[in-house]
Amino acid sequence: MTVDDAFALRCPAPIAPDERILLGHGSGGTLGARLVRDVFLPAFGPLRGGGELSRLGDAAVVEIGGVRIAFSTDSFVVSPKFFPGSNIGELAVNGTINDVAMMGARPAFLSAAFILEEGLEVAQLAAVASSMAEACERARVALVAGDTKVVERGSGDGLFVTTAGIGVVPDGVEVGPEHARPGDAVVVTGPIASHGVAVMSRRSGVEFDGAISSDSAPLVDLVQAMLGAGSVRCLRDATRGGLATVLVELAEASGVGIEIEERSVPVLDPVRAACEMLGLDPFYVANEGVAVAIVAPDDAETVVDAARRIPDGVGARIVGTVSEGPARVMLRTGLGVTRPLIMLAGDQLPRIC
Ligand code: MG
Repeated sequence: MTVDDAFALRCPAPIAPDERILLGHGSGGTLGARLVRDVFLPAFGPLRGGGELSRLGDAAVVEIGGVRIAFSTDSFVVSPKFFPGSNIGELAVNGTINDVAMMGARPAFLSAAFILEEGLEVAQLAAVASSMAEACERARVALVAGDTKVVERGSGDGLFVTTAGIGVVPDGVEVGPEHARPGDAVVVTGPIASHGVAVMSRRSGVEFDGAISSDSAPLVDLVQAMLGAGSVRCLRDATRGGLATVLVELAEASGVGIEIEERSVPVLDPVRAACEMLGLDPFYVANEGVAVAIVAPDDAETVVDAARRIPDGVGARIVGTVSEGPARVMLRTGLGVTRPLIMLAGDQLPRIC
């Protein structure tokens, strides 16, 4: 199945000429996918490099002087800017680092652009910058270029951050969303939904029992450990749209079915309780330190063991298997019922990253 076929399946209605942007267009769901299909791919797809863009990977893999480079960019508009466990600056560093890492690359260099609203406290900007510096140090990447723009009071929400990142893809590493095969194992690297619930708890002012904090983390060492342990075919960080959306994207890109055991998918108890209270489905809540890996069946146990030796991968486990098409994701619930996991139109939680 081509990318066009996959889009046609889940977002059939073309964008109308008088349609306007909704908050939901910024989510990882079908509204955003329609923007890519009907606005960005028609504009940029026919150009040089359009083939790589159309792969819709976490990062593009391009060749410069015989060296394969993974290259990605991401904007951060999370509200509020500071929340338990992380903030907009740390997310901006880790988010781009992780997209580069998901292509099997070791991220090396970042740029950062800041859009500031008139009236923002400089102390808040300094706090964001200092946490970005710590995140760069932790992941051993260098921030080497940047830009600052200011908009009038009322034209922004204090501070938006855009980062871009590059890293070298080692020889022999071939990961991409289109490489899943029937029989492969589906691995999740840690408990899901913590990031979205942490942001939501700060946004709503609701205090939950137990410690809930964002899982934001650089997944570079985790990915390298997994790649070194066996044949990892696909990697994707389960950010906007959560685990469900990422699984649908991988199933569609590879033209395979995916079956998930709900009971195998880790969710921390306080996060599960908070989701129930807020009416959120943890499968659709954003993560900032969890990856999905599709792994060759014979290597699955070894890859999970390797992941568990890394601090950010101690919760790694096999949660499902890949089957022959049709390209869809089925969830076997704790009650033994099987139901499809689809991509939502918008997001349960806008402005989550
Ligand atoms: Mg990603």
